[in-house]
Amino acid sequence: MPAFSPDEIEALKRRLRALEAVMARSSDAIIITDADNRIVEVNPAFTRLSGYTPKEARGSTPNFLASAKTTRASYDAFWADLLRDDVWQGEMWDRAKDGSLYPQWLTVSVIRDAAGAIQNYVVHFSDLGEHAETTAELARMAHFDALTQLYNRSAFESLLPQALHNAQRDNRQVAVLVIDLDRFKNVNDSLGHAIGDQLLKGVAERLRESVRASDIVARIGGDEFIIVLPDIENALSVAGVTSKLKHNLADSYRVGPHTLYATPSIGIALFPADGTDAATLLKNADAAMYHAKAQGRNNFQFFSEGMNIAALERMKIENGLRLAIESTRLGTAGQFHLYFQPQLHIDTNRIVGLEALVRWFHPEWGSMPPAQFIPIAEDTGLIQPLGDWVFWESCRQLRILRDAGIADIRVAVNLSAQQLRHADLPAVVHGALACYDLKPTDLELEITESAAMQNPAATIAILNQLSDTGIVLSIDDFGTGYSSLSYLKNLPVQRLKIDRSFVQEIEVSRDDHAICSATIALGHHLDLELVAEGVESEGQRQLLEKLGCDVLQGFFYSKPLPATEILIFLKNWQATQVAA
Ligand code: C2E
Ligand code: CA
Ligand code: CA
Repeated sequence: MPAFSPDEIEALKRRLRALEAVMARSSDAIIITDADNRIVEVNPAFTRLSGYTPKEARGSTPNFLASAKTTRASYDAFWADLLRDDVWQGEMWDRAKDGSLYPQWLTVSVIRDAAGAIQNYVVHFSDLGEHAETTAELARMAHFDALTQLYNRSAFESLLPQALHNAQRDNRQVAVLVIDLDRFKNVNDSLGHAIGDQLLKGVAERLRESVRASDIVARIGGDEFIIVLPDIENALSVAGVTSKLKHNLADSYRVGPHTLYATPSIGIALFPADGTDAATLLKNADAAMYHAKAQGRNNFQFFSEGMNIAALERMKIENGLRLAIESTRLGTAGQFHLYFQPQLHIDTNRIVGLEALVRWFHPEWGSMPPAQFIPIAEDTGLIQPLGDWVFWESCRQLRILRDAGIADIRVAVNLSAQQLRHADLPAVVHGALACYDLKPTDLELEITESAAMQNPAATIAILNQLSDTGIVLSIDDFGTGYSSLSYLKNLPVQRLKIDRSFVQEIEVSRDDHAICSATIALGHHLDLELVAEGVESEGQRQLLEKLGCDVLQGFFYSKPLPATEILIFLKNWQATQVAA
């Protein structure tokens, strides 16, 4: 023992008091243990957070704080990391004296003596729970998403590489699950963000409950979540977890007066098979998620190389679409054509309108269905020039029909949500009408229910502008969205088009029959004309007539026909009507 002079002892005492004061005033809880990990010192913040006095804590290991949420595996991983790096940071759940669980962001440091032997461990942490003080609150905000309390994007971005690093070291597999909620946007757009937020909170809770505490669950964007399973046996065990997720999320959510659903589309990439770094794994899990969505939602997909091929395919279509649009001129035979499908009034049997449906004939690939290229046109903004062409071409064709003696027929054009957001839409529409000497009442615009629900105030303003001039507006695919009656009342629409899917099953499904019946009653109550689309049989026609539907459209009368054929069809129809 070296001997200290009285002055040196005094100086050491002062230093000790200063350090004690720092410990005492720190809002972070601090635990100091000895080389055997027995607690030698704790500070008042520790007592405040955990409920244990220094007397109760001294002599035991910090293990008595551990909650069952911390698994053996993650505990072992913690020690391995700490002894390798001499410092460890991360989240752990602890149990306070009163039994409550609290998450904490821990920093553990190893203090070694000059010879390198462990002398102490120093643990400090801030409470991340409800009673957190400002500093702890800030720490929490830096790592956790405020709405759902899951990890946020930035925490996730440091946790995933760490998990991959550990898996590499221990020769383990990791699964990365990208989860996107189906049609969540509809909820937000139609019921408002407050309701959307509540739904997200509910989803987050169920996600957290569906996996182990040591699994990483993060919210990285609006309705996008990621789960990392840091230690999996094989692909099959991931499929087990995914089925559980799907099952747990399938139940409805009660939010205020609403009953909502939020089914997930899940894409899965595995380390190391599908990628050895975070960026590649995320990219591939994302591709798998898009694939799951395309497969009809509420579904999960493992990544495969084929998906990158699908992404390439999509790019190919996008480029083809770009070229086709650039080379499209009004009146010349480009790659796009309009087909027309007649709509009949049920009482008079007269054709009252034609729906214009775009067709794309590619010189190499042949005909490409709109369901395949319209969504790509929408995602890329190409729907704007394509939509403009559809307007002008519809008006041009209607003028040709008029000049051939077909009067009193309207043409109905489909509008995408994006077009509806463009302030110059009324100008384009009226320009095309004027150019072909047509009246606004000669044109009908079909807007899907979900498009009409987006950005309600702006949408209503544009629709009012269009409707004020006499253009007819209809809600397309009615029954597939979340529109509320009170909202519908505010829209200047004249027609409701019952979605094809309900008409298809009207003879065999009691539910679909009831939906058609209720929609027609509701529509009539709001003074709207009811159009049923996808009518394929006499049986369906009869039922719709009985329910009081006004207008019918479908293969039962005619498939969509190219312009030259529709003229012949209309002439023949007129002739049979006159004869009858
Ligand atoms: P939509 O607006 O619901 O159009 C009706 C779809 O139902 C058309 O498919 C039509 O061919 C089909 N259909 C009509 N009658 C029957 C029937 O009796 N049975 C069956 N099974 N199907 C029937 P199409 O032409 O493939 O168009 C698909 C979708 O693509 C359209 O659905 C519309 O959303 C979109 N689309 C088509 N043309 C345009 C366009 O010019 N602009 C925009 N924005 N979207 C378009
Ligand atoms: Ca339509
Ligand atoms: Ca439709």
